[in-house]
Amino acid sequence: MQRLARNWRRAGARVGLVPTMGYLHAGHLSLVQRACRLVGQRGKVVVSIYVNPTQFGPQEDFSRYPRDLARDTRLCRKAGVDVIFAPDDAQMYPRNGAGGFSTFVVEETLSRGMEGKSRPTHFRGVTTVVAKLFNIVQPELAVFGAKDYQQAAIVKRTARDLNFPVKIVVAPILREPDGLALSSRNKYLAGELRAQALVLRRSLEKARAEVRKSSRPIPAARLKAELKRLIEQAPAARLDYVEFFEPHTLVPVPGVTRGTQMALAVFIGQTRLIDNARL
Ligand code: AMP
Repeated sequence: MQRLARNWRRAGARVGLVPTMGYLHAGHLSLVQRACRLVGQRGKVVVSIYVNPTQFGPQEDFSRYPRDLARDTRLCRKAGVDVIFAPDDAQMYPRNGAGGFSTFVVEETLSRGMEGKSRPTHFRGVTTVVAKLFNIVQPELAVFGAKDYQQAAIVKRTARDLNFPVKIVVAPILREPDGLALSSRNKYLAGELRAQALVLRRSLEKARAEVRKSSRPIPAARLKAELKRLIEQAPAARLDYVEFFEPHTLVPVPGVTRGTQMALAVFIGQTRLIDNARL
């Protein structure tokens, strides 16, 4: 992959990367479209498909995470992807169990709260695999989704802090017609659970409506308590966190106003879903 990428760059082609864990949906494909547009006719788009073990906690869904490389390949081909980079664990983390891999990339500020708090080793896995992918694919741009808002902010910060010559592009969240954000994990939402998953979107809408009708900042603690009540009206839903923060620094705000960023994580049965929006 690295050799191929170097040859492309030498020939003057722009290279765009879309990192994914596969089981592709229209949200991923919207990132691919964006990458194709940005690199232009003569450019190359690489989609990486890798369920990265280092970003999953021991109790999480790594082994049952949905995988379908044959279907992903068809979707990528239709979308005009030039190369799928789908390494295996032994290639990405050689002799990992035997101490054969021991270098990690850690962002220390933006990754403290929210996802970082609920999933303590998650972002260390993300920033490490993203740094590896940048070194392997050598893209001049990489497209990430706003669905993982904190992740996109951390990747931007890491690329800047470590001088990766990569432009990070963040594309908007793609949703189902009823407002559920597309996610590979939606596959887990059997029967009743699919409808209950709408509490995430409903919480974002409720917060937005409250902010729009209030002339003063709303105390974050009060809004959090209200949303927790709303969410837990769905019998299978359990709130992990809801946070209100400044969109660039990710610093929590005491008072919520128009322009505050909101993010939340909710368990629907065993499935943990996330969503976010600018209020
Ligand atoms: P994943 O395969 O879940 O790791 O996601 C790969 C990339 O696709 C990440 O940058 C995600 O933020 C992005 N992504 C996932 N779901 C969506 C969505 N519904 N809309 C836009 N981007 C998404």
